Amino acid sequence: MKFAIQSRNDDQSNELMERAKTYLTDFGLTFDEESPDIVLSIGGDGTLLHAFHRYADQLSSVAFVGIHTGHLGFYADWKPDEIEKLVISIAKHEYNVIEYPLLEATIHYCGEEESSTYLALNESTIKSPDVTLVMDVELNGSHFERFRGDGLCMSTPSGSTAYNKALGGAVIHPALEAIQLTEMASINNRVFRTVGSSLVLPAHHACVLKPVKAADFMVTIDQLHLLHKDVKSIEYRVAKEKVRFARFRPFPFWKRVHDSFIDGFEA
Ligand code: NAP
Repeated sequence: MKFAIQSRNDDQSNELMERAKTYLTDFGLTFDEESPDIVLSIGGDGTLLHAFHRYADQLSSVAFVGIHTGHLGFYADWKPDEIEKLVISIAKHEYNVIEYPLLEATIHYCGEEESSTYLALNESTIKSPDVTLVMDVELNGSHFERFRGDGLCMSTPSGSTAYNKALGGAVIHPALEAIQLTEMASINNRVFRTVGSSLVLPAHHACVLKPVKAADFMVTIDQLHLLHKDVKSIEYRVAKEKVRFARFRPFPFWKRVHDSFIDGFEA
């Protein structure tokens, strides 16, 4: 079995990376950064996002596991002092693989046949660099609304606890194959109107955003920020691909939500 390690690159994460590498090699596993079977991410959820994008072209064969060297994460749910236990479970192959849905974003450009397609583990957001974002929102080919505001966020279920949650979107269990469109500060008055609530789309639905005037947009795909010029449309749907996580013990999603957002706060 082959493994790779992604570190956040701080002292604690690097030290843990070296220990994990030694232990796993001692157990007969091969360090292979090109085509690993399992990828250990050491740092936080942000580190796991980097690991995901590094191996996004090998999703059907790679399983991810996250160790947090800061606070408990949604993807990084192992503690540093559990490293020995984790290594033994990896070496003995004592784990299940669970799959979470991903978001596919396809950007079409004016006058071009070529488009850009991305996979997101958390979300894709769209903002206008200088002016208010104005976009027509189509659901399954039918006009739904004209959005005016700061931006729009389309998130995966596992990304629903990230930027989406800060925007007031719902937390969605990753067993649901869905994507969620959440507004950022929409303009709503006598003239302009949007639905206001987040929309949850099932796997067989598509959402297409079409610029009304300005066609240059800042589009994010997880931690990646890119300015796209002359955008004709952006199409979002649940991706065919899934991300695979190695699960060594039960840690239910709602418990992670509780431990991350409720526990530790004064009642
Ligand atoms: P960052 O600004 O350094 O970190 C953003 C925070 O989001 C970190 O605390 C990170 O956890 C946390 N996070 C990432 N994925 C999460 C998830 N699925 N559920 C709950 N929390 C999560 O940026 P980054 O490390 O490059 O990560 C990019 C992500 O930042 C984006 O995908 C977006 O979701 C998030 N973001 C959030 C806001 C907001 O909440 N207002 C604004 C912009 C971007 P760790 O500390 O464990 O890494």
